[in-house]
Amino acid sequence: MIAKLEIDLDAIARNVAALGALAAPARYAAVIKADAYGHGAIEVARALALDVAMFCVYRVDEAVALRAAGVATPLLVLGPVESDDLAALVEIRAAVALWSTGAFARDLARAARASGRRAPVHVKIDTGVTRLGLDARQAPAALAQLDNDDALDLRGIFTHLAAAEELESEYTHAQLDRFAGAIAPSRDRFAARGVVAHAAASAAAMLYPQARLDMIRAGIATYGIWPSPQTQTAASDVLSLEPALAWRTKLVVVRDVEAGRSVGYGCSFVTSRASRIGVLPIGYAEGVPRALSGTGTALVRGTRVPFIGRVCMNMAFIDVTDVAHVATGDAVTLIGTDGDETIGANDLAACAGTIGYELLARLPANVPRVYRGGRANAAIASATSMVPS
Ligand SMILES: *Cc1c(COP(=O)(O)O)cnc(C)c1O
Repeated sequence: MIAKLEIDLDAIARNVAALGALAAPARYAAVIKADAYGHGAIEVARALALDVAMFCVYRVDEAVALRAAGVATPLLVLGPVESDDLAALVEIRAAVALWSTGAFARDLARAARASGRRAPVHVKIDTGVTRLGLDARQAPAALAQLDNDDALDLRGIFTHLAAAEELESEYTHAQLDRFAGAIAPSRDRFAARGVVAHAAASAAAMLYPQARLDMIRAGIATYGIWPSPQTQTAASDVLSLEPALAWRTKLVVVRDVEAGRSVGYGCSFVTSRASRIGVLPIGYAEGVPRALSGTGTALVRGTRVPFIGRVCMNMAFIDVTDVAHVATGDAVTLIGTDGDETIGANDLAACAGTIGYELLARLPANVPRVYRGGRANAAIASATSMVPS
């Protein structure tokens, strides 16, 4: 393995327990879109199947893959569904986000009737992201109309927040007020039937208790990563999160060069001293952002060392001159801990001018994932290649 992602499923379960306790009595929906933010949706879902009330994915094919892998937990598809996929959606009993009373709702109801089932739905209300969702002012009428269709099984009503990473954001309070207003006419009736109201992703679940409602939808925090520096500052007293992923590769070549040598494409880096250059066997095709060219650090033998030169398609360079006894084959940590040093996903992302979310979501599917932990039942464990911890 020239590179691997080490994923600790027990750390993920501890994050769910920690944030779940903070947000209780709100229930926990784990967001596992984008292959569980790079952690592997099927493995994460199997490990959490009994710990969470629901999993959220973006596409129908993600939901189908989870069902095929034996995950029986309720599922919510957050994104758009093509008409070709309606039958599959109904078949696997996944709920879908509904943001209009139009053609899609009618097609979904028709597909449900055709299969003799009711289609579970969570109605989405736009309160200020201006992306998906019914206009909050039209929501009461739309909710009544959708609830009248007996082929649709209303399970939830939700919204999404635009600025909940900020402390005391007026905008967040205004969004929550708009949501409360939109669901007020039906709140008691729906609550009596167990229809859940939800609004909070990770940041709001930490910072805005009034956003927790009946259920939180936590993505990034599930994986032990803070949504933003502000959330970490504000909530680390009441919540401890444990990053679950380490990204490691190894030095494929270590070479000594004299001062004045150019390293890599474009001759963007020239050694200023006699140097020892470490060559990594991964580049932007393997998920290393090209924006790390000449910036950012990695860990070798517990020492923090700089990236130098340009990140290539399949290779990259680090300066290991100051690492005692460094040798070909030494482990290189891009995300994770080595000795006393740690690089978080957000740290590496910041060096590349982005955020942990994007870096993780872009980790290629073909980087081997090696799993530890996961207290799933025996049938689940035997069906996977989990490495015992
Ligand atoms: C991605 C997403 C979430 C999870 O967001 P995090 O910040 O990762 O917790 C929640 N709700 C919706 C609608 C999303 O698209």
